[in-house]
Order: sequence, then C-alpha cells, then structure tokens
Amino acid sequence: MFNFAVVKVVKIKDIMLRIAIQTKGRLNEQSMELLRDAGVRIGDDKRKFLMQAKDFPVEILFLRDDDIPQTVAMGAADLGIVGYNEVAERGYNVDILEKLGFGACRISLAIPKTEKYEGIEYFNGKRIATSYPNILQEYFKKNNITADIHTITGSVEISPAAGLADAIFDIVSSGGTLVSNGLVEVEKVLFSEAVLIGTPGLSEEKMAVARQLMFRFESVIKGKGKKYLMLNIPQSSLEKAIEILPSMKSPTVIPLAQEGWCSLQTVVDDNDLWTVIEQLKAIGGEDILVLKLDKIVL
Ligand code: ATP
Ligand code: MG
Repeated sequence: MFNFAVVKVVKIKDIMLRIAIQTKGRLNEQSMELLRDAGVRIGDDKRKFLMQAKDFPVEILFLRDDDIPQTVAMGAADLGIVGYNEVAERGYNVDILEKLGFGACRISLAIPKTEKYEGIEYFNGKRIATSYPNILQEYFKKNNITADIHTITGSVEISPAAGLADAIFDIVSSGGTLVSNGLVEVEKVLFSEAVLIGTPGLSEEKMAVARQLMFRFESVIKGKGKKYLMLNIPQSSLEKAIEILPSMKSPTVIPLAQEGWCSLQTVVDDNDLWTVIEQLKAIGGEDILVLKLDKIVL
C-alpha cells in the first residue's frame, strides 16, 4: 500500500505592479515612451484611467501629476513617474528609485527686470507668488529671509505685472516665459527631472518586478543621446583611431577583405559625434555610418 500525500495546490496570486504616470502634460509622452522602450506596451484607449500592459505584469494608472506622490505614498500605486519638484513640494514619504533623464527644469526666484538685485536679502518683506510654497518656505528659512509667500495655482508668471506680487518662484526651463513677462531669474533654488518613485517597504515579490523594470529603464536611458558609429580605416591609422574613439570597453576591430584596411565599430555620445567624425576623417577614415542606438544592456 502506498500513502499518497495530499498536495494542496496553492495558486500564488499573480504579482501585478501598478505604476502611476501623468495623464496628459509635459511628462506624459516621455513616460509612455520610456515604458514602451522598456517593453511595457499598453493600448491607447484615452478614456481608461487604468490599463494593463500586454506582456509585463504591470498596470498603468493615469493621474494628475500633483496626485502621484500621495498615491504612491499610500500604496494605491506601487511606483510612480513624476517630476522631482512635485515630490519635494508634497513631502510624502516615498522612495526615489531612479532618475529618468527627462523633464529637466529648475525652480527659481525671478523679479521684474527693472529692479536692482544685490543678493537674497532683496526678498525680505517681499510678496512672492508661487505654486511651490513648501520648497520656498524651506529655502527662505535656511537663508534667514522673512517674506510673504502667496500660493497660487494658475499662471504665476503674470503676478508681478498684475500687481499681485513683487516676485515669483516658479519652474524655469528655457527662460522664455520669464523674458516675455519682463522678469529676470535671480536665484536657482531646486533642480529637477522626472524620477521613478516607489512605495516604501514594497513586498519582495513586487520589488523583484520593480527591479526588473528599473534595469530595463536604465538600459533605455543609457542608449539615449548615443549613436553607433561604423567606419573603414587604413590599418596604419588604427592606433590613432583607437585613441580618438571613446568606447565602452575598446572599439570592435574587424579586418576587411581589402588588405591594409579594417572596419571599426563603437558607441559615441551625440555631443562628441561631429568632432569624432572629423578627427577620424582627418586620419583616413572612410565610409562612415552613424546608426541609431536603441538600448545599452551592460
Ligand atoms: P497636471 O495636469 O498633471 O497637474 P501640470 O500642469 O501640473 O499637469 P505640467 O506643466 O504638465 O504639469 O508639468 C509637469 C512636470 O514637467 C513639472 O512638474 C516639471 O517636473 C516638468 N517640467 C519640465 N519643464 C517644465 C516647464 N518648462 N514648465 C513646467 N514644467 C516643466
Ligand atoms: Mg500638476
């Protein structure tokens, strides 16, 4: 007689990670692009606020960016993609897991260009309009400034001209908005970019999925702003070419059928691309191909 043990089959509940991103606005498109490049593909039904990805255990929750830090802090979403400025202003307890390399901006103090500015003491006793009262309050406290902070949610930049405030504390990227409102940036207080935030103390299973996603994000981010460069070069110039080429380990060198020539392949930063091409041409580089780079997995 055999004794058969009764094996209870426990179905482990499928892990599903919920990520909050901006519904529309400056960060929406790049958040979607990052997810797509990382293999998280969702449909494009604009009416749905919650959508499940096709081939990754993730669902996307669409929110106003103001609400993302709190939603993640509460655990109603496990992860979120939001500007660091919103995280800093709202002050909720979230983990900052990764910088995402887009949405760069700063929050600055700006005053009418007709004013004389000699230092931060200028702001003592002034009225300053902002949508970021907490960050400003902390900055003034650190610098011993006593000012009247006037919180508004609309167009902060028009407040001085409208007689609502003496100065503003607002987001700046190119500075064009300030110029067109007769303002000049005098103190850069906080630098921001989009960040991936997470609920503190995620379960190990959820963290495993989050880590997998972060690894993919990193590969996508590393590939941004870089090109794959291929060229033919006389064997005699090879050493010089290797000195010119920045590369992850060392450039790939492949002999060509034509004697005395080889093919070089490497990854080049967009900022260095034209300088590198000109230097390679000067030492006999030919047939230079520049290819788009999708991801770098290290
Ligand atoms: P929502 O409707 O989701 O509340 P919003 O109007 O508050 O959107 P957006 O203007 O879409 O916000 O900006 C979202 C984020 O984009 C900002 O919090 C900031 O991190 C980043 N950003 C980058 N450049 C700029 C800029 N020039 N102006 C404003 N935000 C910028
Ligand atoms: Mg907002």
